[in-house]
Amino acid sequence: MKTIIEPFKIKSVEPIKFTTGEERESILKNAGYNPFLIRAEDVLIDLLTDSGTSAMSAKQWSGIMDGDESYAGARSFYRFEKAVKNLTGFKHIIPTHQGRAAEKILFTIVGGGGKFIPNNTHFDTTRANVEFSGAIAIDLPCKIGRDPDTIADFKGNMDIDALEEFIKTQGAENIPLIMITVTNNSNGGQPVSMENIRKTKDVAKKYNIPLFIDACRFAENAYFIKKREKGYANISVQEIAQEMFALADGCTMSAKKDALVNMGGFLALNDDDLAMKARNILVVTEGFPTYGGLAGRDLEAIAQGLEEVVDEHYLTYRIRSVEYLGEKLTKHGVPILQPPGGHAIYLNAKKFAPQISLEQYPGQSIVCELYICGGIRSVEIGSVMFGKYDNQTGKLISPNMELVRLAIPRRVYTQSHIDYVIEVVTEVYQKRNNLKGYRITFEAPMLRHFTARFEPL
Ligand SMILES: *Cc1c(COP(=O)(O)O)cnc(C)c1O
Repeated sequence: MKTIIEPFKIKSVEPIKFTTGEERESILKNAGYNPFLIRAEDVLIDLLTDSGTSAMSAKQWSGIMDGDESYAGARSFYRFEKAVKNLTGFKHIIPTHQGRAAEKILFTIVGGGGKFIPNNTHFDTTRANVEFSGAIAIDLPCKIGRDPDTIADFKGNMDIDALEEFIKTQGAENIPLIMITVTNNSNGGQPVSMENIRKTKDVAKKYNIPLFIDACRFAENAYFIKKREKGYANISVQEIAQEMFALADGCTMSAKKDALVNMGGFLALNDDDLAMKARNILVVTEGFPTYGGLAGRDLEAIAQGLEEVVDEHYLTYRIRSVEYLGEKLTKHGVPILQPPGGHAIYLNAKKFAPQISLEQYPGQSIVCELYICGGIRSVEIGSVMFGKYDNQTGKLISPNMELVRLAIPRRVYTQSHIDYVIEVVTEVYQKRNNLKGYRITFEAPMLRHFTARFEPL
């Protein structure tokens, strides 16, 4: 087989700034050793997130020019609505300024004290919105998904038995909806099989609970189904995605991921009453139902992006470039979460820097060193992001895994950028014995990783 190439040519370029190691040390220190607080222009290769960082196509940019900015009933809304309906099949399409706004609206309506929301794994904003409503967010990943080393096809799956057990224990009346996140971002960007979505739906139906998909990476998930699940090899990604959505009663979507835009999202659902309540909140917090916190031009770009993202040449390149990074790092001995996920490679910080205790944040230490060594920005997904303190003892309760995420923006970097990343990560790994722990000097009460400040020990 020939080399899988970037399925586009470059029409417009954006220079990146080079800094010296010395400069980066001082930049990082001033940012409290938290890469979220670094200026983006001081980053060479930005793998902080794949969210809102996509390069838009020429057609999306022309859609930006062509956007209808009418307050009500804009042509761009109808194009957006048609694209989302065609993909998801849902009856009500509600645009929001990003994914979390859709979550906020949804959980404001269905959440609240005494309620539980099960999910294969909540993304951080999803969890925050569930908890902010007073409800409890429950993660039920399949067992194999909790093991970072096993190679399996669908490690993002929901634990179906645990889900049913949970419903029986808590009572279906206390569970306003079940969510399933595709791909499973917080669990390594691992895909969820169609079989697992179907079984989740069966359980949901049995107890008369609606099923919602957190659909941010629906196209990447559908591509994995095509490649890995029996019976899907000859079905188009678009049709696979449609089949996924047909199993659900609604979805939340961050268009900043698989709609290939820099801002946007939506809530889509079938239930008329829920849709009415959602639009009522939308008008107060986002905007009129035909723009919902977005400009007409954004709606155009989303509609176009939803068509481009299911292109199989694009997905082949997308998934292969992440896999290539994972393969090369593995070859150099770097411990990563296996197998490579759809949008990111996750370094296994516990194995990478075993000399650093979890209370001293091994992932954060790796994140800092990747920046100092090569100007690469990554993010810790471990005790900094998800750590909690025990109410009685004040001791840190760590999540199951300590990871460093290298998220790959869509259509932004070329193979030589990825080769450079491989070199830097490998160099940091070779010098891993020098890595030191960190201490938190400031933290906010919620989503602390965004603003926390650290000090090296
Ligand atoms: C990004 C993301 C969200 C939130 O979307 P925003 O657009 O960042 O608000 C929700 N769920 C998952 C799985 C995500 O990756």
